[in-house]
Amino acid sequence: MLRTADCGSLRETDIDSTQTIVGWVDRRRDHGGIIFIDLRDRSGLVQVVLNPELSSQAYQVAEQLRSEWVIQIKGTVRRRPEGSENPGMETGSVEVIAEEATVLNPSLTPPFYIAEDAGADESLRLRYRYLDLRRPPMLRNLTLRHKTVKYIRDFLDAQGFLEIETPILIKSTPEGARDFLVPSRLQPGSFYALPQSPQQLKQLLMVSGIEKYFQIARCFRDEDLRADRQLEFTQLDLEMSFVDEEDILSLTEELYTGLIESVSPEKKLTKPFYRLTYDESMSSYGSDKPDLRFGLKMTDVSDLATETEFRVFLSTVERGGIIKGFVVPQQASYTSSVMRELEDTAKEAGAGGLSHIRFRGSGPIKDMSEEEILYSAGLRMPSEWSHRLAERMGANHGDLILLMAGQAKQVNAWLSLMRSHVAQRLELADPDALAFAFITEFPLFDWNEDAKRWDSSHHPFTSPADGQEEMLYGDDLGSVKSKAYDMVCNGSELASGSIRIHNRKLQEKIFSILGYDAEETASRFGQILEAFEYGAPPHGGIAPGIDRLVAILTGNTSIREVIAFPKTQSGADPLFDSPAPVAQAQLDELSIRISD
Ligand code: ASP
Repeated sequence: MLRTADCGSLRETDIDSTQTIVGWVDRRRDHGGIIFIDLRDRSGLVQVVLNPELSSQAYQVAEQLRSEWVIQIKGTVRRRPEGSENPGMETGSVEVIAEEATVLNPSLTPPFYIAEDAGADESLRLRYRYLDLRRPPMLRNLTLRHKTVKYIRDFLDAQGFLEIETPILIKSTPEGARDFLVPSRLQPGSFYALPQSPQQLKQLLMVSGIEKYFQIARCFRDEDLRADRQLEFTQLDLEMSFVDEEDILSLTEELYTGLIESVSPEKKLTKPFYRLTYDESMSSYGSDKPDLRFGLKMTDVSDLATETEFRVFLSTVERGGIIKGFVVPQQASYTSSVMRELEDTAKEAGAGGLSHIRFRGSGPIKDMSEEEILYSAGLRMPSEWSHRLAERMGANHGDLILLMAGQAKQVNAWLSLMRSHVAQRLELADPDALAFAFITEFPLFDWNEDAKRWDSSHHPFTSPADGQEEMLYGDDLGSVKSKAYDMVCNGSELASGSIRIHNRKLQEKIFSILGYDAEETASRFGQILEAFEYGAPPHGGIAPGIDRLVAILTGNTSIREVIAFPKTQSGADPLFDSPAPVAQAQLDELSIRISD
């Protein structure tokens, strides 16, 4: 080893010892005659003093040093002179008096500061990611990620799970995204697909009798990138045999509770995790991934709305739509400019408008007079109606009610957005709180209006709910429930999973509903259908995303902050400059011709 101690580890107990330390020059200060250096390695910083009277060799080396040069210092640890201690630094009560200094490697001037805040835009940080990762927050993110994965491995090992790797070069395993294809050199014109998830592989492992499988799996989905999406991402992929939904959910809850208490004990974790069915979640929060750190629960008031003469409400209900809204506590005194901002937010989301009612009086709502209840333009109701509305929605004096009208699907989406907006404005979501929930009983299918067909709302291997198989042969496919569940946290989807189909006939029926003909079903899914005929056990699983979880735990909104080498929003890697054209010879070898 080139060192005897880590920079960040030196303490008063090391005083008078001789140490050799190595690292990067974090800061160099020339105090006319004496040079001070903060030397940084992965463990932290320590101050080094280079005094020409004690070592002219070390001092001469120090004179040429610049930020990020890699050096080695041999010296004695000393208590810092009184008054010069730095309580903000873990090693702040000591310093190293250099006796020898060696330059191990000089450095160009870095394009941004290696500091808590790089002060640089993300494309520059990604172009020089190896420097960006030297910054302490990035090191903290990678460390927490490591601890997270280690906890998961240890926990599942103790529960008897086997970690098994599955191929990256495989065949399409659909999760609703586009595949990445890899051309085969040995079979020109044929392609591998990178797995969108190891879904079929883990199910085949259940047929193999593995019973408890997991993998820290890389998944590849060619879809548009967002803050919480990358073309490749990591999930804890897990599958078990002889289980029902409750077994998977309680195992996941135990794992995540222990994990968070171990790696992020400062977080306020809600225990036990909330449980909501999909229908409850949609009806109360307009979303299947509600942020449960705050209330703002929604109420459908379509029936009350039809008692009014308000044209917007009446015509919406006539067209099969709904009127729904939520109460914003103690905001009846919002100024008209705030109300306009809320209306603009609603319009930006695509809503026709936003109605509101404000209960300005100070007594009970049932006693409020006409003058104490204020309405948005066009919405003038008898106060008796507003009293009943307030009672139904649980509003109190001083509260504001927001209402939206339209088709249920749209109203839910708009209101869910308004709910987040209001929560943000009122700072209702505690940044340190983690409100986990399992959303269960998802519909088995979603109607795809553009393609005019049914899609799986989870994936095609999900089992219908008990007793609903018959419905697959009827014409109300939208009402079929499934054994799929999601785990959500603070408004983000962190995991999906389901109890699977393990029977060939049922699986074939699902494929036919999804519009695959017999030939396509055989060519794409022949392997799993055949495996189901060799004693496939009942099984199910879940796959929580690692990137999003670590982003939440480290307080980042973008998963790029917790991935060592992520891609940009446009799918590019500015460091390697990928994707990139390849040499003609390579294309020829793969029998590929690029058309214009
Ligand atoms: N394969 C699924 C996914 O990636 C998870 C699961 O059903 O286990 O979302």
